Amino acid sequence: MAQPPICPRCGHYVPSDVEPGVGPGVPSMSVSADLDSIMVCMPCGWHEAWQHAQGELGTPGSWPLVVPERFYKGLGSC
Ligand SMILES: [Zn+2]
Repeated sequence: MAQPPICPRCGHYVPSDVEPGVGPGVPSMSVSADLDSIMVCMPCGWHEAWQHAQGELGTPGSWPLVVPERFYKGLGSC
């Protein structure tokens, strides 16, 4: 078994800590416009969508960053 991939944005597993290495993760919204997509974990995908809605979406220059715990707690419950 290879080591599960690590999210470059928050340092958690991709696609999630619950199922590390199961599935590809999601392409980061922060870089898809001008670079090859970077795969981030599911909570980061939700966090980026939330930040984007707030007009606060950052760039990979600010990574790694802390994602609020509530984005991780959403895993597996919806
Ligand atoms: Zn992440």
